[in-house]
Amino acid sequence: MHRLLPSSVFLASQTAGWVHRAMASYPLIVGPPASLRKPLKVPDRLLLGPGPSNIAPRIMAAGNLPMIGHMHDEMYQIMDEIKDGIRYAFQTHNQLTMVISGSGHAAMEAALFNVVEPGESVLVGVNGLWGQRIAEIAERMGAKVHQMVKAPGEYYTLKDVEKGLTQHKPVLLFLTHGESTSGIMQPLDGYGDLCHKHNCLLLVDSVASLGGAPIYMDKQGIDILYSGSQKALNSPPGTAPISFSERARNKFLNRKTKPVSFYFDLKNLANFWGCDNSPRMYHHTTPVIGLMGLRESLAILAEEGLEESWRKHREVTNYLYERLQKLGLQLFVKEIPFLTMNAVPSG
Ligand code: PMP
Repeated sequence: MHRLLPSSVFLASQTAGWVHRAMASYPLIVGPPASLRKPLKVPDRLLLGPGPSNIAPRIMAAGNLPMIGHMHDEMYQIMDEIKDGIRYAFQTHNQLTMVISGSGHAAMEAALFNVVEPGESVLVGVNGLWGQRIAEIAERMGAKVHQMVKAPGEYYTLKDVEKGLTQHKPVLLFLTHGESTSGIMQPLDGYGDLCHKHNCLLLVDSVASLGGAPIYMDKQGIDILYSGSQKALNSPPGTAPISFSERARNKFLNRKTKPVSFYFDLKNLANFWGCDNSPRMYHHTTPVIGLMGLRESLAILAEEGLEESWRKHREVTNYLYERLQKLGLQLFVKEIPFLTMNAVPSG
């Protein structure tokens, strides 16, 4: 501290005596918690739920790297490498590609808050929890939400979507690629073109599916795609890749109101993530170590190759199907190569 401030500041403050007087002193009413005096214990557990997943040794090692500043050049370099990795994983050339500091829900909010304005119409495919959540977030921010409700395990056809687009004239359609609460996979070919014909953006959730099943952001005309770090990417939870198409960017640029969230404001985030060709300015302190882990998981994906990652997930899922059926369990949906739902046996 002494080395950081000019000595005149110290001299002045000491002579004035304000340091002493400004600090109040009371007896503590909360003591150091006994729970924190015990050593931290974490079991080594095989994780088989839909995230978080076990972490590869190389990603664990990233968690032990030295701390650096979120605005150091070396960190900007890591962030640029992460953007390259997301573009590969998403199969997109979008300039507006970055990571939201937070879990998948943070990316859900960032997507909606930036491209939807209060009073605008949003069409949501609700065939499980994730559509419900998006509908709830959109409603809270003042959008007019139209839900296309389907039974868990069903997906949306182009005909379903066309009907909704014609009826509600939304600015945004939401679909979940891998519905982790029902085990269904949403086909995506043709949905982007259809949305664009109706002047609507396509928002897709790939939190559970990225790396586990094919998705092609640019080819499939997806305007906003987000994911999470803790599923097929095998990173710790807390960082969420997201990308915005040129169409989504234009929708953002033509907003009449500011986004309801400062933390998720795309203008600030795009600048901090080096997506706007301007000098990067402080916005918030990113989860530096979490980003290093994400960088490593994207590097592993790039080295293995997307096709190989998809093939591997399909292969182990087929093996699991086979073994579950031998145990007499029925599959609820037999389709999704990264998540297996079996029907609960009676009794
Ligand atoms: N979407 C899907 C498809 C998910 O499976 C999840 C997590 N289970 C989320 C969104 C939300 O992600 P998070 O828990 O990381 O906020």
